[in-house]
Amino acid sequence: MTTSTSNPILTPIVGLHHVTAIASDPQRNLDFYTEVLGLRFVKRTVNFDDPGTYHFYFGDDAGSPGTIITFFPWPSARRGRAGAGETTHTAYSVPAGSLDYWEKRLADNGILAERTGKRFDEEVLTLADPDGMKLELVAHVNAPDIKPARYADVPREYALRGFFGVTMLHTALAPTEKALNVLGFQKVAEEGNRVRFSSPDGTTLGNHIDVVVDPGANYGSSGAGSVHHIAFRASDDAAQAAWREEIAKHLSVTPVQDRDYFHSIYFREPGGVLFELATDNPGFDIDEPIETLGEALLVPQWLEASRSLIEARLLPITLSQSSTSQK
Ligand code: ZN
Repeated sequence: MTTSTSNPILTPIVGLHHVTAIASDPQRNLDFYTEVLGLRFVKRTVNFDDPGTYHFYFGDDAGSPGTIITFFPWPSARRGRAGAGETTHTAYSVPAGSLDYWEKRLADNGILAERTGKRFDEEVLTLADPDGMKLELVAHVNAPDIKPARYADVPREYALRGFFGVTMLHTALAPTEKALNVLGFQKVAEEGNRVRFSSPDGTTLGNHIDVVVDPGANYGSSGAGSVHHIAFRASDDAAQAAWREEIAKHLSVTPVQDRDYFHSIYFREPGGVLFELATDNPGFDIDEPIETLGEALLVPQWLEASRSLIEARLLPITLSQSSTSQK
């Protein structure tokens, strides 16, 4: 199989761009990711494919690629069941030595978290968000210094840095390994039934893609608390176009879709996880100033005419005063 590293035209994929998951109650989702985890609410918009549903984006101060977790909150969504063919864990990078802080902060907020020991070289704290989505905080000596959410009360030295990576559960390794190889991700480590892939040209954000292999695992079912897809980074539209051609040699891939804040192509890896390749451009300050990101509902131009209908279908939400410019 041809891998990306053998093709000099391809600009390397350096890690994850975002992770998108399903939630239920929008207010509870918003409160957890801003007030408890201290992320910035970088965009309050709607699902472009289902405009009666919110689409929330949380990230670092600017919503930098590699820090963005997004949710479709469906108020009546039933819980998903974690299983094979899914992304089961989404991991954030936190500075080494900060897990005690997080353990206490989560406990103070009534969130159960468990020190799940050392994985490869790093200590891991595992928790579930209010919809049961499994998150991990990985204490990382090389956690990059980022600009944390400007209105959050988490001290800078403990702030979530963005993604460490994700874990997928599969009944077999080979088909998913081939898809990761196409994207330039190579096997770098193995521990028990966990195999880690990284891009040799990757950044420190979102460049740990783990596959846990369990041939007897049941398949999961999608619902609240499930990851819907994971998105990798393309540096720009030209890089994405070149990757689209390369990916199309191996997998069925969609045309480019304009998501306003990035441009996307989608393809499903053979193990069942939906992958996206999203451009770094244009970013989240394209339609509102950086100071007030997330404070107003923004919809794409083609939906502006239906704004009042859309607003009537959405549950009202309130961004806590401590997470906004409105002091
Ligand atoms: Zn996406």
